[in-house]
Amino acid sequence: MRTLLLLTTLSALLTAAPPAAVVHGGAGSPRIRMDGTDKAAAKALAGLKGGAPALEAALAGVVALEDDPRFNAGTGANIRLDGKTIQMDAACMDGETGGFGAVAAIERVKNPVLVARKVMATPHLLIVGEGATRFARALGFPDYDPTCAENKARFQRVQAILKGSDPRQIEAWKRYDWKAAWNFPTPLKEALGPSDTVGCVTRDAKGRFAAAISTGGTTITFYGRVGDVPMYGAGIYAGPKGAVACTGNGEDIIKHLVAKAAYDLLEKGLSAQQAVDRTLAAFPPRVDLGLVAIGPDSTGGGCNYSAEKKAFVTDYQAQMAWSVGQ
Ligand code: ASP
Repeated sequence: MRTLLLLTTLSALLTAAPPAAVVHGGAGSPRIRMDGTDKAAAKALAGLKGGAPALEAALAGVVALEDDPRFNAGTGANIRLDGKTIQMDAACMDGETGGFGAVAAIERVKNPVLVARKVMATPHLLIVGEGATRFARALGFPDYDPTCAENKARFQRVQAILKGSDPRQIEAWKRYDWKAAWNFPTPLKEALGPSDTVGCVTRDAKGRFAAAISTGGTTITFYGRVGDVPMYGAGIYAGPKGAVACTGNGEDIIKHLVAKAAYDLLEKGLSAQQAVDRTLAAFPPRVDLGLVAIGPDSTGGGCNYSAEKKAFVTDYQAQMAWSVGQ
């Protein structure tokens, strides 16, 4: 029996494709930021080549982007409508064990994805709001303000859009009386942040998969709003056949459980790129959506290119910034 087990493990090791990582910088991230996603993919890959399990490498990839202020996660996460609140969502999933951990609307931590990893070790799946921040403090994550010049500049652009002084308008917000629903602890004075999320999927030397993801939320965001990122099966999914990480309009991603739907395609034997392409094709281009995927021997990624997004991201060059390390 033991010999059989040993032989099976040995053959799995011999047939496993080499380690790889795929990283994205968010559906709204221009390809000129690929130096950032390249670095994050290299970081994840270096860990994998050093023998790190898929999960630890996926976390390292996301931490690299959380620490890069140009991306909307960790330092640089979007400032919400009141001009000062930053609430972040993050999650991670281990394809071998099915373990999942997430935080939502967490405040004042440097790396929300590392707090999500700690949630995975609890009997819970998701901890939110003040509870999440307090959980982080209890486990030694120090107070940290993710505000920086980059997210302040983004907030100014959003302010102009909502005040109507910028001709580029986000349709849904044009029609909605957001002032009437103001829910921030401080009163409405002046208001109003672009969408991105960072994500990483990995395959380790033993052929195991993992996914990790982190965001500051969508462009224009109420206090307490939570998107797809911490929702099981929506923003990320990982299993024995691969891993997927999404980005884009969280509300659409949740309704279609996009990460799990794309993973199901990997399970049916599609390559990672086929799974990405088929997932994107199921949505009209106006839905802001991007994803990266990894399978037993393939990698892939891509993004819808909606007119609304083209109008909003002025330094847009082509599709989102995403990189493969292998
Ligand atoms: N999916 C993220 C959210 O809805 C935002 C993004 O990926 O751009 O919170």
